[in-house]
Amino acid sequence: MCPAGLYRLFAEDASNSRLGERAGKRYFPRRMNACIISVGTELVTGQCLETNAAWLSEQLASVGVQVIEHVTVGDQLQHLATTIRQCIDRFDLVVATGGLGPTRDDLTREALAQAIGRPLAENQEALRQIEAYFQRLQRPFIDANRLQALVPKGCSIIPNRRGTAPGLSCQSRDCLLFILPGVPAEMKAMAEESVLPQLGVRPGGQAIRIANVLCYGMSEARIGELLEDLMASGRNPSVGTTAKDAIITIRMVARAADPPGAQRLLDADVAEVRSRLGKVVFGRGDGTLQAAVAELLVEKRLTVGTAESCTGGLVAKRLTDIPGSSAYFLQGFVTYSNQAKTDRLGVPAEMIEREGAVSEAVAHAMAEGCRKVTGADVAISVTGIAGPSGGTAEKPVGLVYIGLADDRGITVKRFLFGEQLLRREIRDRTAKTALNFLRIHLLQ
Ligand code: ATP
Ligand code: MG
Repeated sequence: MCPAGLYRLFAEDASNSRLGERAGKRYFPRRMNACIISVGTELVTGQCLETNAAWLSEQLASVGVQVIEHVTVGDQLQHLATTIRQCIDRFDLVVATGGLGPTRDDLTREALAQAIGRPLAENQEALRQIEAYFQRLQRPFIDANRLQALVPKGCSIIPNRRGTAPGLSCQSRDCLLFILPGVPAEMKAMAEESVLPQLGVRPGGQAIRIANVLCYGMSEARIGELLEDLMASGRNPSVGTTAKDAIITIRMVARAADPPGAQRLLDADVAEVRSRLGKVVFGRGDGTLQAAVAELLVEKRLTVGTAESCTGGLVAKRLTDIPGSSAYFLQGFVTYSNQAKTDRLGVPAEMIEREGAVSEAVAHAMAEGCRKVTGADVAISVTGIAGPSGGTAEKPVGLVYIGLADDRGITVKRFLFGEQLLRREIRDRTAKTALNFLRIHLLQ
């Protein structure tokens, strides 16, 4: 939908606006305060974990909209209508998800009609879109789906590529409302395609461009030191860091009067961050270490094999998460027992006896054996103590050796991830570190 068209609609539709009008055009505040309403009895009873609001909050923040309240309401018409009405009075923007389906417990359309005081009427364009959806799937149109074409007067419909229920948008008093389906995949597609782009270019607001730069292998504190001046408060672009599961995300938000201006500011900062942090940066947006490794392996036309103990195949799993992984992944071993290490990879039994299964020598022999057996250009080996038991003073929980073998030789690195971590976290950290070890090696 064309944003200009949408705003024209709202301008025509608006009455006694607290946001004000300038030269006949509707004026939106620079900072929009938003509320998200999640609708569904399954959410308030705890049968289904609410995730839409969390995702939407993050996305709305990325276009400069501040979410200050989340509300979850069951499928009860009066409660829902009252909640929507109250939110219209208190917020500049309301996004509701759920309850747009074709069954009797899907009441959001009706609640919206009550809340904004406009009658429901069948919308021909909505009906056409629903019929077209059924035709595409070659399924018969069910009469109940007609209900989904009911739209309160004055509301616009938002196309739903992934399901039947169209979304709704309207202006009521000073509040902009978007009503989206509850099914997370439908909700996300609709938000990304039709809602966020409009909010990102709202008139009277600023153009915002965002980049998330992903780092691995350096502490958040050290990154903070290296980027200290860029992270000064009030600076544009704003630069901040967050850490999750050992991946540090540097979030940059640039604001300017127009999109190209914001993009220029952002690009300059991204380049500066990359030059300061070097190989620590592995990607952007929703990138992963395995995706970065896959790209390098494909580019260099190299193959890889894995030999894992404490990660139980996690490194192989992640390497093969990437579509097209057959171009580089040959074989993975999960050699959990000592016997398996000897039988499959040729690790000498007396070496395991002498050094212990978690040792530099064994990681070395596993990488060497794996490369020999698989014939891969590069082999990665992992052996460690994931805990919670099995640690000693000499070899504590969280001790991991990672080996890498290629035609230039074999390198083994020792890591101590710390006894405070859970088994799941140690395994995750180990797999990430192994992938990162491979990535850095491929960059050389
Ligand atoms: P439909 O009924 O056509 O599937 P709808 O718009 O009516 O779509 P709901 O019935 O509210 O959507 O939700 C459908 C399913 O989507 C729920 O059973 C639940 O699994 C999931 N869902 C809905 N809302 C949320 C939410 N806020 N967070 C996570 N999952 C949700
Ligand atoms: Mg439903």
